Amino acid sequence: MVTSFSILRDFAEKITKGLTHIEIKSIVPFEADPHSYQPTPLDSKILFEANIIFINGLEFEKGIEKIIESSGFKGNIYKATQNVKVRPDLVDPHTWHDVQNAILYVKELRDAFCIEDSKHKETYQKNAAELIKTLENLDGWIKKEFKSIPAQKRIVVTTHDAFWYFSRAYDIQFLSPVGISTEAEASAQNVAKLINFINEHDIKAVFIENLANSKLIEQIANETKRSLQGTLYADSLSAPDGPAPDFVSMIKHNVQTICKAFES
Ligand code: ZN
Repeated sequence: MVTSFSILRDFAEKITKGLTHIEIKSIVPFEADPHSYQPTPLDSKILFEANIIFINGLEFEKGIEKIIESSGFKGNIYKATQNVKVRPDLVDPHTWHDVQNAILYVKELRDAFCIEDSKHKETYQKNAAELIKTLENLDGWIKKEFKSIPAQKRIVVTTHDAFWYFSRAYDIQFLSPVGISTEAEASAQNVAKLINFINEHDIKAVFIENLANSKLIEQIANETKRSLQGTLYADSLSAPDGPAPDFVSMIKHNVQTICKAFES
């Protein structure tokens, strides 16, 4: 079975824990950008041999969706965002930043495994239940961490518009000079507006992201005399020895990094 990117790989690994007959391959490597990823001939071969692929959907893995057909893939495609209540104004794939949506991903993957390999249904259900419990606790923890932050301080500036779902779930406002995709270009007008806003509202929580180009944010930080407050993980987990090797540690890392900047 194949997952498109690192967060789905993490969930798939946890749901199949203890089952040695399942081999998980993931297409976009750690610290690579799923928005702009160009699949390789090896990826086509992996797809050709696979029986299932899990993708995020919502135009996140455009490159991969393009080669699914040409690779000769004959399995089933499961979309993790299938049951997510999506952003109404734009097609925004970054739904996992609301942990309640991540729970929907786990349920989607669990049900797919149960259909595809019903012999091991009990293991999938047990592993998924454990993971859902961990994610419910994580969701509660985030709300507690942010609880004491006053409304006027709850504003973050970051590289690209990846945190709308996080913003809605945890009541933190995110601003960025570019749009939904890391491939988008910022207009001079948007950058100027953002710089004014940072100055007017005395915002200190300015971050870069692990994947997106940080040049523009560095320039904005320079012009507003802010220091960058760290790196947020938006679209990919870190390498195993980094600060965000799995979904839970990624979210914890982001929340702690944001809280630290709010308190500075
Ligand atoms: Zn993104």
